[in-house]
Amino acid sequence: MEPVILHNRRFELMLTAEEISGRIRQMGAEISASYASKNPVLLCVLKGAFVFTADLIRQFHFPCEVMFVQLQSYSGSRSGGKVHMHLPLSGQISGRHIIILEDIAETGLSLIHLIAELEKLNPLSIQIASLLVKPSMMQQPVDIRFRGFEIGEAFVVGYGLDYDGLGRNLPDLYAEIT
Ligand code: 5GP
Ligand code: MG
Repeated sequence: MEPVILHNRRFELMLTAEEISGRIRQMGAEISASYASKNPVLLCVLKGAFVFTADLIRQFHFPCEVMFVQLQSYSGSRSGGKVHMHLPLSGQISGRHIIILEDIAETGLSLIHLIAELEKLNPLSIQIASLLVKPSMMQQPVDIRFRGFEIGEAFVVGYGLDYDGLGRNLPDLYAEIT
């Protein structure tokens, strides 16, 4: 199969859209079992998790709300060097069960930072659902209760994840060829 080329970097197929949607159905069932009576807040971490969020929430057949948070970092900074966060209002988080929806956890630092900020808003509980996890790159332990796929260290794109703005629209997930 032809590699996908984005800004002169090359990527090969890693997970098909069908494999991803099969796993998301399983995750949807797991999450539903714990949250069906809790009216949770599903907090999508923009931008990368927007496709995952759209597919996962349509597995939920119970009351739930969707909110968004954007983490912004200086381009070129190392992973986790976050500078700013646009959080929902504290009245929307206080007393609620929160499920953070992430595209990928690499070092885990941005999730640790986000959880620390959310805790200031007094939620009832916080859990994480991440489509992808890179266990070998975690710098601090993070409890990711719901995980889609554990993958290696390669940089991945597609299914919402970008390389410098490109690739979010690809239905499948691709890994960089090094
Ligand atoms: P962490 O703070 O866990 O190191 O990084 C998390 C964020 O870095 C993710 O939400 C994502 O935006 C970005 N990231 C980490 N690994 C990858 C990757 O392989 N591909 C893409 N496109 N983004 C990544
Ligand atoms: Mg992300």
